Amino acid sequence: MSCIFCRVVGGEIPAEIVAADAGAVAFLDVHPLADGHVLVVPRAHAATLEAMSSADVAALFTLVARVAGPARQAVGAAGTTIGINNGPATGQTVPHVHVHIVPRWPDDGAGSVHSLFRAGPRRPIGEVGAAIRTALSG
Ligand code: 5GP
Ligand code: ZN
Repeated sequence: MSCIFCRVVGGEIPAEIVAADAGAVAFLDVHPLADGHVLVVPRAHAATLEAMSSADVAALFTLVARVAGPARQAVGAAGTTIGINNGPATGQTVPHVHVHIVPRWPDDGAGSVHSLFRAGPRRPIGEVGAAIRTALSG
């Protein structure tokens, strides 16, 4: 088994596990962006969110919701930024879906998710909405 997060899930390599259930496991990021930075992964290997079954997605986000508050409270944070680098083009470095839960403080200087995107859109909203509805029906 070469996937590093499959090996964490399987107990083959150590991790600071904070919660687990039948479908997902939550553990601390080995290079935390802030105190309390948790990764939540599905037990079943999938590279991207859209490759997962609905049941695995439900289990993954149920555990994200269960851990987010305690991770924030444990480090005295004011909020959390929760996100997924979904695919290699986004900067995803481990090709096993993982949800980042990063505790936040008002003065931490990290900005919001909006600060990631500088270029802005190139197409009208209505045209893009129609294209997505077409893709969904395909
Ligand atoms: P990505 O950039 O793919 O969204 O994030 C991957 C994350 O996994 C990084 O924040 C990195 O620090 C973390 N990571 C990589 N390898 C390991 C590991 O072996 N154990 C743990 N706990 N975290 C890891
Ligand atoms: Zn894996």
